[in-house]
Amino acid sequence: MPEPVLSDPRLAGAILTIDLDAVVANYRRVRERFSGATLGAVVKADAYGLGAERVAPALAAAGCRVFFVAHIEEGIALRPVLPKAEIHVLNGLMPGSTEAYAEHRLAPVLNSLEEIEAWGKFVRNGSKQGLLCDIHLDTGMNRLGLETAAVETLSAAPQKLAGLDIAYFVSHLACADEPEHPMNREQRMRFAELRHRLPPAPASLANSSGIFLGPDYHFDLGRPGACLYGLNPTPGAPNPMTQVVRLQGRILQVRQIDRVGTVGYGATHRAARGGRIATVAIGYADGYLRSFSNAGYGCVGGVRVPLVGRVSMDLITLDVTDAPGALVRPGALVDIIGPGNAVDDIAAAAGTIGYEILTGLGRRYHRIYIGG
Ligand SMILES: *Cc1c(COP(=O)(O)O)cnc(C)c1O
Repeated sequence: MPEPVLSDPRLAGAILTIDLDAVVANYRRVRERFSGATLGAVVKADAYGLGAERVAPALAAAGCRVFFVAHIEEGIALRPVLPKAEIHVLNGLMPGSTEAYAEHRLAPVLNSLEEIEAWGKFVRNGSKQGLLCDIHLDTGMNRLGLETAAVETLSAAPQKLAGLDIAYFVSHLACADEPEHPMNREQRMRFAELRHRLPPAPASLANSSGIFLGPDYHFDLGRPGACLYGLNPTPGAPNPMTQVVRLQGRILQVRQIDRVGTVGYGATHRAARGGRIATVAIGYADGYLRSFSNAGYGCVGGVRVPLVGRVSMDLITLDVTDAPGALVRPGALVDIIGPGNAVDDIAAAAGTIGYEILTGLGRRYHRIYIGG
């Protein structure tokens, strides 16, 4: 694959470093604890913002052969860099998309009786050999998949499945990140019950957190996404995964506050005399959420530096009074995501989850891939 033409990192306002070896290490770590036959990988939303065209081949080289995306267009884009792998499309069969599935050898996750009928007609039509599909059974999420009545219809008329090469029955857990939540067990039981009304096929239930609920949830195929990218699949307990992302912002200016004043739009922060403020080249146009205003923080030489004032489109302001002076000068880099400020932790400061921070990572960052 051609390397994108990169700007000079010395000129970049912010540098995003993505460690492909860490992604692979996370995949291997999860595979060690996975008791089913196959550990897949979810690479939807551009591999959670990290770049599916780089991440997916690294995972394939580590032995992953089943990938999930959300949109068919994501699958089409990945096919050239994943020539041999299975690519499954969670959002299913939109009207008019069957030919594209066949052309790019993608597997739709069929979400309704209508989709099953349309796909069945298409594959029984003759010439289409070796096309896989999945069937999504809704076990309580009420979002996508066959509701119980549809499963009953199917179980009474199994000829509707004639000619279908069902790779997996899939379902999705609503509360896997809360191990004590009663819905986990309920969904697992419901999944087993619904599956057994249908012809036999392998099964897949667990996302990242679902895998960490234990082997009862593993079935035949695991579908981790977040944990491969370093997010904690066991919130509340120490993170068993390796961090993948580092985001460094460039200091543009440092000012010593010589009289009491306010910082940024809306004058929402009052700076004390004697303090120091560093202005850094990252803003909400980079996906650095405005809800980090007066709540986020960076890290300089191991010292946490609070974000003060509002997040602007292209700039943030950090109170660097307590940071080592030598590290705080124009041109120096501040960790916005790094060893001292993990994605999950900064996400909590903005009232969101690491998933949203990663998938929102901006297009202006100078990207560096290491490893892989
Ligand atoms: C996104 C998604 C996953 C992966 O979830 P993570 O929590 O990121 O591991 C698995 N299955 C389905 C159906 C999904 O939509």
